[in-house]
Amino acid sequence: MIVHWHRRDLRTPDNRGLERAGATDESIVPLFVLDPTVLEYASSVRVACLLEALEALRKRYREFGSDLVVVEGEASGAVPRVAAEYDASSVVWNEDYSGLARERDRAVRAALADDDTACESVHDAILHEPGSITPNQGAHYSVFSYFWKKWRDRDKREPVGRPDADGFASVTGDPLPSLSDLGFDDPEATPPSVTMTAAHERVSDFCSGPIYRYAAERDYPAARGTSRLSPHLKWGTIGPRELYAATDRAADRADTDGERESVREFQRQLAWREFYAHVLAFNPETVSENFSGYTNPIEWEDDPDALEAWKNGETGYPIVDAGMRQLRAEGWMHNRVRMLVASFLTKDLLLDWREGYQWFRHMLADHDTANDVGGWQWAASTGTDAQPYFRVFNPLTQGREYDPDAEYVRDYVSELTDASTEEIHSWHDLEPDERERIAPAYPAPIVEHAVRRDRAIEMFEHARGESSE
Ligand code: FAD
Repeated sequence: MIVHWHRRDLRTPDNRGLERAGATDESIVPLFVLDPTVLEYASSVRVACLLEALEALRKRYREFGSDLVVVEGEASGAVPRVAAEYDASSVVWNEDYSGLARERDRAVRAALADDDTACESVHDAILHEPGSITPNQGAHYSVFSYFWKKWRDRDKREPVGRPDADGFASVTGDPLPSLSDLGFDDPEATPPSVTMTAAHERVSDFCSGPIYRYAAERDYPAARGTSRLSPHLKWGTIGPRELYAATDRAADRADTDGERESVREFQRQLAWREFYAHVLAFNPETVSENFSGYTNPIEWEDDPDALEAWKNGETGYPIVDAGMRQLRAEGWMHNRVRMLVASFLTKDLLLDWREGYQWFRHMLADHDTANDVGGWQWAASTGTDAQPYFRVFNPLTQGREYDPDAEYVRDYVSELTDASTEEIHSWHDLEPDERERIAPAYPAPIVEHAVRRDRAIEMFEHARGESSE
C-alpha cells in the first residue's frame, strides 16, 4: 500500500502527488488528517468549506470502490499511525509552503523515518515552485513585474490524469465529523460551494465568456466579472495546470487581440498568487512581521471602536462598508474593494495591518496565508512591491470611479437602498440633517479622509526617520 495524504489538494484529477502514488505498483490509501494545530488557525466558514470538499472527495473515492480515510489528531502521530495500520511502504503528499505547514511536515517526516516508512513530497499547488523563478543576481524576486515576465515565458506543465480507479485500495472510512464536533459554530457567511464539480463548472463558465471581458470588468465590483475561483484555488478543488490549460485554450479561441490580452490579464493574476507563495516560502516571518523595514517602528493607533466599526461595515464610507458587509455575507470580497478596505484600515484609521489580516483570516472562505499577508502588506506599504506610503487610496473618488452607479453599495448596504447615486457618492459632504432625511440608520463618516491621509503620511515619515519631531 501507499498512502496519499491530501492537504490543500482536495481533488483527484491534476494532482501530482496522487499521480506519483499511482505510478507505483501499490494500492493507494487516500488520507486526510484533521489536525488540531492546523484547525486552531481555521474559522467556521473555512471549516464548513473544508468539510463540504472532503465529503465530495470521499464520494468520488467511493465511486472508485475506495474511500477517503479521515482521522483526527496531530499529523506527526496520525500519518504514521495510518501508514502502519495499512502496512504502507510509503506516504506521498503535495508541498504546502507556509511556515506552519513546513514545520508540521518536518515533524511528520521525522516520525515516518522512525518507523522506517518512506515518504515523498511533490510540487503541485503552483505552476512554478519556490526557487524555480529567480533573478539573474540575487536569490528571490521582491518586485512582481520582473517575476511576471519570467513566469509568463516559462513552459507550463500539462495537467496530469488521475490514477485508474482500480489503483485505489478497498478501504472504508468513518463518517466525517460535523462543524460542531470540531468545535465550530455555524458560519455567519453563506460560503460558496467548494467541490471539484463546482470548480470545474466555474472554470468552464468563466473560460467560455467572462474571461474575454475580464480586463475591462475586473475592477468593477458590481460587474461580477472575476472568476471567483479563489476558494477553489485555496482548497485545491481545481488543479493549477488544469486551470492554466483552460485559459490557454480560451486564448486560442479568442477572436480579437483584446480578448487574448484579457486572458493574459487573468493569467497575470494567477502569477500574483504564485509570486506571493514564493515570497512567503522564503520569508515565513512576514506572516506577522513587516516585509520592508522602517527606521522606527510604525506608530499604529489603538482604537477598538474604529476597528469594530470597520469590521461591521459602519464607517460611513459607503464603498468600504459595502465591502465589509460582502465579507460578512459571503466569506468573499472583490479584489478592488479588498485593496480599498485594507487601505482604509491602515491609512484612514491608522490601525495595524495585522488587525485587518486577523479579521480577513477569520472571515474569508478563500483565506490563503501567502495572498492575504501579501495583500495586507501591499496596502499597508510594508510589503514587497508595496503601495508607496504617500499614495493613499481616496475612498470617495474610488467609490465614484469603480462603482459609478453605486450598484455595489446598494447591494450590500441596505440603509442606502433608496438613496440616489449622488447622495451615496457625496455622503461625506452632506449636512447632518440631509443624512438624517436620506438614511437615518446609516452612520456619518467616522473620520475625515483628508485629515487622516495627512496624518498617515506623517506617521510613515516618522517611521522612516524623516519627521521633525
Ligand atoms: P480573479 O480576479 O478571478 O483572479 C483569479 C485568481 O488569481 C484568484 O482566485 C487568486 O488565486 C489569484 N489572484 C487574483 N488577484 C490576486 C492578488 N492580488 N494576489 C494574489 N492572488 C491573486 N486572495 C486569496 O486567494 N486569499 C486571500 O486570503 C486574499 N487576501 C487578500 C487580502 C487583501 C488585503 C488583498 C488586497 C487581496 C487579497 N487576495 C487574496 C487577493 C485577491 O483579492 C483575491 O485573490 C481575489 O479577489 C479572488 O477573487 P477571484 O477568484 O474572483 O479573482
